Amino acid sequence: MKLSKKQFKQDFEQRLITKFATDVTKAGPQEKFAALASVVKNYYSKIWQADNEYKDESKKKQTYYFSIEFLPGKMLKSNLLNLGILPTVREGLEDLGVDLDEIAIIEPDMAIGNGGLGRLASCFMDSLASTGLPANGNGIRYRYGLFKQKIVDGYQVELPDSWLDNGNPWEVRRSDKAIEVRFGGEVWLEDDGKGNLIPQYKNQERVLAVPYDTPMVGYENTTVNNMCLWRSEVPKDLDLQFQNLEYMRQTAMLSSELYPDDSNYDGRLLRLKQEYFFVSAGLQRIMRHYHSTIKAPINQIAEYIAVHINDTHPALCVPEFMRLLVDEYNVPWDRAWDLTVKVMSYTNHTILSEALEKWPEDMVKTLLPRIYQIIVELDRRRTAELLPKVGATLVHNTRIIKDGQIHMANLSIIGSHSTNGVAKLHSDLLKDVELHDFYEIYPERFNNKTNGIADRRWSQIANERLSTVIDETIGKTWRHNLNDLKLLEAYKNDTETLERLDAAKFDDKQRLAELIKERNGITVNPEAIFDVQVKRLHAYKRQLLNVLHILKLYFDIKDNPELDMVPRVFIFGAKAAPGYHYAKSIIKAINEIAGMINNDPEVKDRIKVVFMENYNVSLAEVIIPAANVGEQISLASKEASGTSNMKFMLNGALTMGTLDGANIEIFDAVGAGNYFKFGLTKDEVYAYYKNNNYNARDIYEQNPVIHRILDAFIDGTIPNISMEGPEIFDSLTTYNDEYFVLRDFKDYVRAQKSLETLYRDKTAWTKATLMNIANSGRFSSDRTVREYAEDIWYIKPKQ
Ligand SMILES: *Cc1c(COP(=O)(O)O)cnc(C)c1O
Repeated sequence: MKLSKKQFKQDFEQRLITKFATDVTKAGPQEKFAALASVVKNYYSKIWQADNEYKDESKKKQTYYFSIEFLPGKMLKSNLLNLGILPTVREGLEDLGVDLDEIAIIEPDMAIGNGGLGRLASCFMDSLASTGLPANGNGIRYRYGLFKQKIVDGYQVELPDSWLDNGNPWEVRRSDKAIEVRFGGEVWLEDDGKGNLIPQYKNQERVLAVPYDTPMVGYENTTVNNMCLWRSEVPKDLDLQFQNLEYMRQTAMLSSELYPDDSNYDGRLLRLKQEYFFVSAGLQRIMRHYHSTIKAPINQIAEYIAVHINDTHPALCVPEFMRLLVDEYNVPWDRAWDLTVKVMSYTNHTILSEALEKWPEDMVKTLLPRIYQIIVELDRRRTAELLPKVGATLVHNTRIIKDGQIHMANLSIIGSHSTNGVAKLHSDLLKDVELHDFYEIYPERFNNKTNGIADRRWSQIANERLSTVIDETIGKTWRHNLNDLKLLEAYKNDTETLERLDAAKFDDKQRLAELIKERNGITVNPEAIFDVQVKRLHAYKRQLLNVLHILKLYFDIKDNPELDMVPRVFIFGAKAAPGYHYAKSIIKAINEIAGMINNDPEVKDRIKVVFMENYNVSLAEVIIPAANVGEQISLASKEASGTSNMKFMLNGALTMGTLDGANIEIFDAVGAGNYFKFGLTKDEVYAYYKNNNYNARDIYEQNPVIHRILDAFIDGTIPNISMEGPEIFDSLTTYNDEYFVLRDFKDYVRAQKSLETLYRDKTAWTKATLMNIANSGRFSSDRTVREYAEDIWYIKPKQ
């Protein structure tokens, strides 16, 4: 949009008066933020309205992306950037004596997701709008976001994230569009005399779902999409007798808390209720819109809408859509099924078996009696139809209902026309191993969509210094088409460019060093290698491997106090699921090791270990630009894709990585000289499983370096871990090291040595940095959503 500095200043000052009866000199930071957000909202509202009208009139097919998590982070700068007014606003505020960054920091980090899955959903939201694709998000407006992490005595402590206390300036509550969702009670079918079976209900619990719409502003275009989040409330017309406190509490709970767990199955009833809540509300809203606005016959619905099931949490979309079609719109069963499969598509995000969602039949039957009937009927019909075609084994292995449980992944695959993995390796594993039986039956449904990241946030917003260097080198087209970063390759031997890249990185490292000083009280040297591992804490991600390497370096110094090594700052950021005991023990160990090393005068600052508390999107935006190295060291086959690996690459950090997930594609993109590869391959891991011949204790017994490092966990060397130390030690020895940490250790140390060697050659290092940036174009989520649009959703961009 067009905006003069003068106009902006006028708008901002005026808004301070109308909103708070104050002016720039007297307003507090919260008031300034609220006023600025309100001005920005005013700017995009007309575009939003116009785009809604365009969508209604053109009736072009739209996607609805159902996700139980979103992780947008702060939105102010993203909205400013996408509206094309970031520099104008920054300068205008400067004129008024206000620092944009000091206002931006006030906005709470919108964290209604756990990690990669939720962040991917938000990257997609940005990219869908920015590529002009008509799409909507659909989720839950949790009152409390992901917990705030504090570190107390080295332990993780969880505090509630009450992010809505000062309101949310971006959302629009739409009471007029509230929808009722029903649970429990009894259901039976009655013949209406015309041969139709009509479900009758008794004693259902009614919940009102109120939509909150948040605009997703496209980057310098005219698209503004919508992310709809649902809040649960008690219906207004309810008889007073039902208005008891327990019922009101139960209702509020539905949109109260996000499950702080991103890979373990949690069997609580409330979670299932949440899943149905946002699925039913979302699909009902779609249906209403279809009837009020699209006005096409119901049997053409697949030509107008696509529904995406992001991981299995929204899998109830399948039976709920069937219910709406069959029960509410009188579509015959077979036709309804055909439409459902055409409308639905599904992304699988993990092969970790503990994360595969299953629900006890009884629970579903009690909570969602009609949905249960539909699932049973789906399973029955499919079994009858497929038995003669593919045989009993395949049918049995792929049934929706097995052993008294409803298998959500099976439901999602069977009820949709597309199942995709999130990186090549992951998609291959789905086809060849994990979902092979499904692949035999429905080979045409399987495909890959390698994840991506919203490069505007992770480069233009998070790393203005680097962005400016890139502009000065190759012009600005890369800001619209990330593939143009390839133009940088022509400068790989240009000393001046390399020096500027290096200077930008140094600035970013200084900025992080200041934050570390402020938050952790630790002084770090910005000349040191900033070696970063930030992601959820999980055994398969192997933060422990990183820790063992740190201990190795520490003992090397203790053995040889004059050791010549490039100083390193090891930076961690990670939340552990509150119920994940082992992960919390690792956090405690990291913090105790940090204390031991940072305070040992003999180390002479050659190693610093920093655990930054409360890792979230905003912190990532400061840490990742400052990284020299990104640790992507999961056991091969376990990380479906990873997306922080892409953020690091785009910011000129080199990857220390296994051949896992999208790391493989990063490796292929940058070439062997610009990536530190180590560790078992997926095939080697699977060979161990097949032959059952991994013996971790042997490694411990036979490798003196490992022996000494592991002993440090149990012999008092690392202080204050008398509980955690043995737990970790045992996991690696007695319990045979589930994720092959000890097996990969030696090769990891080798790769770390070669990293150090390269870092000593500044020019060579920076050149590798440039090669990473130059080849990161394919990891833009603009590319990813375009692939979804073309291959899965069949939607077309505006223009
Ligand atoms: C990108 C991101 C993740 C995902 O990180 P992975 O290393 O891919 O697991 C998690 N949390 C936040 C805050 C992120 O920005």
